[in-house]
Amino acid sequence: MRNFLLVRPDNVEAAVNAGAGPDTAYIAGGTDLMQLMKQEVERPARLVDLDGVLPDAIEIRPEGLRIGALARMADVAAHPEVQRNYRALSESLLSAASPQIRNMGTIGGNLLQRTRCSYFRDTGFACNKREPGSGCPAIGGDNRILAVLGVSEHCIATHPSDMPVALMAFDATVEVSGPDNANRTIPLAELYRVPGDSPKTETTLRPGEVIVAVVVPASSAAKRSAYVKVRDRESFAFALVSAAVGMEIADGTIRDARVAMGGVGTMPWRMPQVEAALRGQQARPEVFAAAASRASEGARAASGNGFKLRLMQRVAERALQSVAV
Ligand SMILES: Cc1cc2nc3c(=O)[nH]c(=O)nc-3n(C[C@H](O)[C@H](O)[C@H](O)COP(=O)(O)OP(=O)(O)OC[C@H]3O[C@@H](n4cnc5c(N)ncnc54)[C@H](O)[C@@H]3O)c2cc1C
Ligand code: SF4
Repeated sequence: MRNFLLVRPDNVEAAVNAGAGPDTAYIAGGTDLMQLMKQEVERPARLVDLDGVLPDAIEIRPEGLRIGALARMADVAAHPEVQRNYRALSESLLSAASPQIRNMGTIGGNLLQRTRCSYFRDTGFACNKREPGSGCPAIGGDNRILAVLGVSEHCIATHPSDMPVALMAFDATVEVSGPDNANRTIPLAELYRVPGDSPKTETTLRPGEVIVAVVVPASSAAKRSAYVKVRDRESFAFALVSAAVGMEIADGTIRDARVAMGGVGTMPWRMPQVEAALRGQQARPEVFAAAASRASEGARAASGNGFKLRLMQRVAERALQSVAV
């Protein structure tokens, strides 16, 4: 691993000014970044430590939750209010990684962890995300875990995190701070970008910007929600396919429906066509099956991940059934 300078700023303003410099990266829990540095996939000369600088509080407000970017995954998952009124969020976090990693990993870091595409993480291979223009060996190579939505001929890497899938379903926004006191709020759906012809650029964050907090609006659908994850092992494995769903059901009729899926997109993927097939319908198994059958619309499989198309439908259906009871 390359030597680096660790910068420990006193406040957010100093952090973003330091973070805007060249060859610099932020570090929060370090559970992803340190691994990438050891593999020499990332080689920053300076690290700006966000610990003690960004908020870690979980605030309960009438309009929703505000979670500081430094909050640990384990603390958010175990918070009674999150378990009661944002169940899919708690379940998504509990399904991720291991207890040790959840104790270190932060909400901001989980939003921005890098893809698990094995070519990206091995500098012995070409990779357009690491080195633009070098090629994409995953297309036509080992792509079993990779994406079927939002893909391009330049990159098919999956966004690996569980929690942002739940956040995507419930219209979360992200509070961001940048140099010169430039604060802004971004809908989560606009934080990420699909690879197109520049897979190296994964988010819409500007140089130096940090994620300060995540805000999740309160809703009946978030209260009646679930996260279902299918993976190769029962624990300590990334999603092959996952679904965060929530429904508001009154007198047997679905008044509101939220569906997002993970393990399938180059970013956490909202499913408006599935939601439209649910709203106003009776909460019945055949309605869930018909709506879930639309989950794979627009999906484009590579040589080794065609199984995900049917699996998406099955996972969405199971998740919908689980919140209906
Ligand atoms: C074996 C293993 C299994 C795992 N399984 C899963 C899984 O099933 N599901 C899952 O979701 N995750 C999984 N993870 C990943 C784990 O959840 C992430 O490593 C963790 O969430 C990253 O958080 P961190 O605070 O440690 O981030 P760091 O490693 O500190 O940072 C990650 C990235 O985010 C940037 N960053 C961090 N915070 C901010 C901020 N506030 N503003 C701007 N940039 C920031 C850093 O610069 C870096 O680029 C697994 C990890 C391992 C090692
Ligand atoms: S899928 Fe993306 S990350 Fe993986 S090798 Fe291709 S360009 Fe790199």
